[in-house]
Amino acid sequence: MSFQQIPGQTRAKQLLQNSLRQGKVSHAYIFAGPSGTGRRQMARTFAQAMYCETLVDDACGTCLSCRKVEHGNHPELFLVEPDGASIKIDQIRQLQQQFAYRSAGAGTKIYIIHEADRMTVQAANSLLKFLEEPLSPAVAILVTENGQALLPTIQSRSQWVTFTPMQPEEMEKALTGEGLPPDLVRCAVQLTSGLESARTLSQLNEFAETRNAVLQLMKEAVSKLPIIGSIQQKVIKTGVNDRVELLLDMIILWLKDMIHVCTGKKERVVFQDQLDWMSSHAFSRSAGTWVGYMEKTVESRKRIRANANAQLVLEQLFIAVQQGERLSG
Ligand SMILES: [Zn+2]
Repeated sequence: MSFQQIPGQTRAKQLLQNSLRQGKVSHAYIFAGPSGTGRRQMARTFAQAMYCETLVDDACGTCLSCRKVEHGNHPELFLVEPDGASIKIDQIRQLQQQFAYRSAGAGTKIYIIHEADRMTVQAANSLLKFLEEPLSPAVAILVTENGQALLPTIQSRSQWVTFTPMQPEEMEKALTGEGLPPDLVRCAVQLTSGLESARTLSQLNEFAETRNAVLQLMKEAVSKLPIIGSIQQKVIKTGVNDRVELLLDMIILWLKDMIHVCTGKKERVVFQDQLDWMSSHAFSRSAGTWVGYMEKTVESRKRIRANANAQLVLEQLFIAVQQGERLSG
């Protein structure tokens, strides 16, 4: 996989590709950032690019070295992951032994340590010695959510590469690029914080069902159509009952959209496929009333969390929306 195929993280890519181009690869890197930001993929691609026989600052993906890294059988690339809850000193010793056995290769060895903050103190001290006196040319990539938890002496010997949570727009671009339905993706990226979880959510049938339920219920409530039967049919009888919190989160997004339409920010509308309907109904209430509905929805969410009866909570919410301007706390 080339750097370009990894979504977002422009600064991290620039830093790594520049060091490859200039031949100034450090001895140790800390890839720090929350999970779901592509740290593992970046580590693998960086290793691939260092070994690539065709390209200087990227991985071609087709040469023998690139394929070996891809298949996990490159002889000079080593991976360490927690064994149970922690990375133990034996694992670091084993790594050092492997280095010693294979020093004949003479090429640069790369080792990637995942969840590096889970090294025991002994393991970390052992690694530190190893960083200071490698047995052969080596590059260490320490992947972690919490770089500050590493030994200060390890931190100061490493080049930091920071991974930032992806913006919803970046996630949307990446996921629609994978062929997922834009209407679902646009909604999912607003409700989760990582690419993985947004992808999973977009692919769930239940997610599409819940979205449909929100659209129907909100339209009926705003148009003052009888709502109790629909709640029964769309929520209680179907599995949506188990996902009332998701339903309420989507209602909040939907209400925000109505406010965006009222304030002339149509480009920010999440439910873009509903734009026509929203444009013709957003002004049936004042922006303040939509805000009031949002507050009521947030309150409903709290009540659901406190195990209130879902049907009752939803009925009260939708009846409040039906009543239009006469909204009371
Ligand atoms: Zn290659």
